[in-house]
Amino acid sequence: MYQGIGASGGIAIGRACLFAQAQETICQAPVAPQDVAREQALLTRAVAQAQEELGQLYEQTLRALGREHAMVFEAHQMVLQDPLFMEEITRAIQEERLCAAYAVRRTADGYIAQFEAMDDAYFRERSADIRDIAHRLIAHMLGQPLQARTLEAPGIVVAHDLTPSDTANLPKQYLLGFATEVGGATAHTAILARAMGVAAVVGASGLMETIAQGDMLIVDGDAGQVLVRPDAETLAAYRQKQQRQQARRKELEALRALPATTACGARTVELAANIGAPGEVAAALAQGAQGVGLLRTEFLYMDALQLPDEDTQAAAYGAVVQGMAGRPVVIRTLDIGGDKKLPYLAMPDEANPFMGWRAIRMCLDNTELFRTQLRAILRASALGPVRMMYPMISCVSEVRAANAELTRARAELDARGVAYDPAMQVGVMIEIPAAAVAADILAREVDFFSIGSNDLVQYTMAADRMNERIAHLYQPAHPAVLRLIRYVIDAAHQQGKWVGMCGEMAGDPALAPILLGLGLDEFSMSPQRLPEVKQAIRSVRMQQAALAAEEALQCPLADKP
Ligand code: PEP
Ligand code: MG
Repeated sequence: MYQGIGASGGIAIGRACLFAQAQETICQAPVAPQDVAREQALLTRAVAQAQEELGQLYEQTLRALGREHAMVFEAHQMVLQDPLFMEEITRAIQEERLCAAYAVRRTADGYIAQFEAMDDAYFRERSADIRDIAHRLIAHMLGQPLQARTLEAPGIVVAHDLTPSDTANLPKQYLLGFATEVGGATAHTAILARAMGVAAVVGASGLMETIAQGDMLIVDGDAGQVLVRPDAETLAAYRQKQQRQQARRKELEALRALPATTACGARTVELAANIGAPGEVAAALAQGAQGVGLLRTEFLYMDALQLPDEDTQAAAYGAVVQGMAGRPVVIRTLDIGGDKKLPYLAMPDEANPFMGWRAIRMCLDNTELFRTQLRAILRASALGPVRMMYPMISCVSEVRAANAELTRARAELDARGVAYDPAMQVGVMIEIPAAAVAADILAREVDFFSIGSNDLVQYTMAADRMNERIAHLYQPAHPAVLRLIRYVIDAAHQQGKWVGMCGEMAGDPALAPILLGLGLDEFSMSPQRLPEVKQAIRSVRMQQAALAAEEALQCPLADKP
């Protein structure tokens, strides 16, 4: 049995289809001076060929899975147009006389190493995209265009790593599941597996050594386990589990189009999705999301090799808004810093990065960067209902300073004659205890609140959300946290403002009655959590929910709700 990370839930049972790792042999010695022009021409041709292939992959994925997924290949095309990336390769050819293939390999390896050294899993996994692009270019330079690795019968794909190109090429009708040796839960492969609804385990090292082509496998995407050549008894047990899961999935699917209304019909709340990329819109809609409650815009900054410009951002936000087809989309302004750094932006090392120069604090010191994003968000607001929120707000002066930049951004668009929604709602995230305690004062300045419980819990409990040793103190249901939440909701409601929550707490079905009882208006969570939370809401009466909240507010043992 192999233990990895469950990247997409469910159980897959079937035969292994091994995707072997392609090996490239590249000469590292400098070429003769007269051959430099030839290598430069090789690069130019390979880039043109790669662009054409990526265009085809884009079209193919667009037809099979929709624009959200096709955008991966648009992003790859953008890397090939990135001046920094391309100049570095050209310099290696021209000045160091490296052959084109080695110049690409070395440049890509530099970027890959930078991404892999990042603390944030999302950044680390962007290295897979650079690897994919480099592999495509080099294959052309070596005259061995990429062979699509594919499935010809139903099977479970087993690979060291899967590139976005690999996953896009897989025939959906044959794909039972994935198991890879590397990768994390936010890799494109994982996102795609979730979108296709197949079980996937990533990061299970050593798989390729023991699994042979055609071996019987069980991939348990919930437990993150891969079982190789299981005995008959195990197989029967998993088949039963698989059937139970399928029945449960059907039961939840039946709720998809129904509103999140309590059992007594007394209250209906909005269920929205947290997404990080246009590629996740389809999964959100498939799970019945009524809107996007948190668009983490940092994805765009993390995917890029330099700060994304206004057009790039406007296109990405616009794609989400259009994809959500009239449903509200809450766009959060850049939340970088803390554990999330950008490889191309100088950020100081700090003793306490989570209490340091992050999110709105950093944006207010970089007003050009901030206004570029504000203009892009405003432009997206012309395409559908957009609500915008500022992260990590601690005091009113920050809201006013941010709004002053918003006013300037609107004026800049007016001067260019560009359309936007002048009535776009503007809110703040409540994730710092100071903001929660002074919520009545903050509420006067905004249209809505969204409680960022991931941070609010860590700051309230003084328990780092990433530190496993004190994980027992990270208690979302601690009365202190719940009392803050109650206060925030009451303060906002008194002024006619709505309150959402977009931290992990909102996606926990066990906490749904408590949050309902406290009066939360909108619950936003990762898409796959939506059905269970909806079921929890639909099966509780408002009276029970109020009671659950009252009890929890007084509970002496919040770590054992
Ligand atoms: C939160 O803090 O709850 C939140 C949603 O933001 P992030 O997890 O990105 O810090
Ligand atoms: Mg946060």
